[in-house]
Amino acid sequence: MSDKPKPVNFIRQIIDDDLKVGRHQEIVTRFPPEPNGYLHIGHCKAIWLNFGIKDDYKGRCTLRFDDTNPLKESQKFALKIEEDIRWLGYKWSSLAHASDYFDQLYEYAVHLINNDLAYVDSQSGEEIREQRGTLTEPGVNSPYRDRSIQENLSLFQAMREGQFEDGEHVLRAKIDMHASNINLRDPVLYRIRHHVHQRTGDKWCIYPMYDFAHGQGDAIEGVTHSLCTLEFEDHRALYDWLIEHLPVPSRPRQIEFSRLNLNYTVMSKRLLTELVEHGHVSGWDDPRMPTISGLRRRGYTPDSLKNFIASVGITRKPNVIEMGLLEKCIRDDLDPKAPRAMAVLRPLKVIIENYPESSTELIEVPNHPQNPQIGRRQIIFSREIFIERSDYEDDPPKGYFRLAPDREVRLRHAYVIRFKEVIHDEHGEPVEIRCEYDPDTAAGKTQDGRKVKGIIHWVSASHSINAEVRLYDRLFSVADPLADNKRDYLHSLNSESLECLQDCKLEMELSQADPKTRFQFERVGYFFQDTSSQPDALVFNRIVSLRDTWMKKSQHYSSR
Ligand code: ATP
Ligand code: MG
Repeated sequence: MSDKPKPVNFIRQIIDDDLKVGRHQEIVTRFPPEPNGYLHIGHCKAIWLNFGIKDDYKGRCTLRFDDTNPLKESQKFALKIEEDIRWLGYKWSSLAHASDYFDQLYEYAVHLINNDLAYVDSQSGEEIREQRGTLTEPGVNSPYRDRSIQENLSLFQAMREGQFEDGEHVLRAKIDMHASNINLRDPVLYRIRHHVHQRTGDKWCIYPMYDFAHGQGDAIEGVTHSLCTLEFEDHRALYDWLIEHLPVPSRPRQIEFSRLNLNYTVMSKRLLTELVEHGHVSGWDDPRMPTISGLRRRGYTPDSLKNFIASVGITRKPNVIEMGLLEKCIRDDLDPKAPRAMAVLRPLKVIIENYPESSTELIEVPNHPQNPQIGRRQIIFSREIFIERSDYEDDPPKGYFRLAPDREVRLRHAYVIRFKEVIHDEHGEPVEIRCEYDPDTAAGKTQDGRKVKGIIHWVSASHSINAEVRLYDRLFSVADPLADNKRDYLHSLNSESLECLQDCKLEMELSQADPKTRFQFERVGYFFQDTSSQPDALVFNRIVSLRDTWMKKSQHYSSR
């Protein structure tokens, strides 16, 4: 458990006040995902809120699958959701399903019918929609609204017994077709769906609507604070109406907060499903996806995601958060603890002419510049090394301090080398640089007073290993892919969101590295082994680049 200060937000204030006046003995929350896709970082906000309250107030939090729509849901998604919550470091007090309450919900529906508070409507969905009215016009009563209690009871039972086709009848609450809140205009509570359910099999062919299952599930579980996103604000009146008119065991309170939105991505499960099913990404856990499993595969840590949510905070104000804030959170998390290593992504060979051909040198270096606990390692220096292609320029612009004709540069942890000659291919691309090193300039040795501004990373050519490195960029090239027309959002997919580099050169040590270690490749970024990585075929994902001041000056020299 961390010793971080506890979050402060309006929901925790309500809880504190409730505890002060003795309204509750124990605080109970729940997280109610629909198992129709993977969790995304928006869900992380709801998880952080509900499970965080449970932990800090020593209460309970149920993981309750909202499995009321068997058409779209599956056990496969449910298992993935559990895995993601565990990975974030949270434990549910109990696991439940809306379907656990199907019998009880049926009883509640019968209770409403018996009290003349619900009726079976035999109109089509379209007719019901048309009669609902608008924000400015009241609705119209259904011609079936005055069915007798007896008739409603027997029709509802016949619905349950499977005597009707999908859509022939629905059960509606009898509230008020003139209510200013449209959600109170006789909302549908049950519909017929002849579809096998992943948990209840073919026991049911009628299924409760979300609004009917949700609040009652909360009440059955003794939820004290039912925290949901703002789109449910207008449903609260119905939530309260049902709680008031049913013999439920407790009275939960619904409180809404704003959804998390992130720029340069989409967050709705419907759109994420489309990206997966149409092959725009490699799967739900594609490292470019805003899903928890995608972020995990990319190398994000649970702490970085939780810190991100904490810095966004919980309010009622709708807003869109900058992707840059998420990136800052992972950098802040990794910077103090990620071991450093050297990796050359786009190699250019350098031959140090005055270094003896058969010699090698072991250089002991710290794994972290400030944190001695992360240990030390040995790197090998030799006559032939690789440097980054972008660390050499034939014709350097002003302010370029790396290698160039007649320039000196320091090799990180090693010597200063001086340019002697460049060899180009037929396209004028440099393919080999010849240099000389100065033996008096080994790192840590007294310098001869020379100032060398540039420091570049390198690896010994014959002591490096090959790896594939995957660089990720934003999934969409515009901040708000849904701005113009929701259906056109695919047009703004970033065609350069993934770049796979083969034959990158890494320090040899990395072949032995624990695949769970996140590294900082010096001057390049933070990296994590992909799930497909093998000891003899390493694949590293770039989690996030380093802040690169050079990049601001010139896009041209950046490695993206
Ligand atoms: P989507 O629109 O992405 O399909 P959803 O709300 O339908 O999301 P659910 O599985 O029903 O997804 O969500 C479970 C819980 O997570 C709900 O309480 C919901 O309010 C919350 N949640 C979903 N998306 C966000 C978000 N972007 N920010 C905060 N909470 C969210
Ligand atoms: Mg939902």
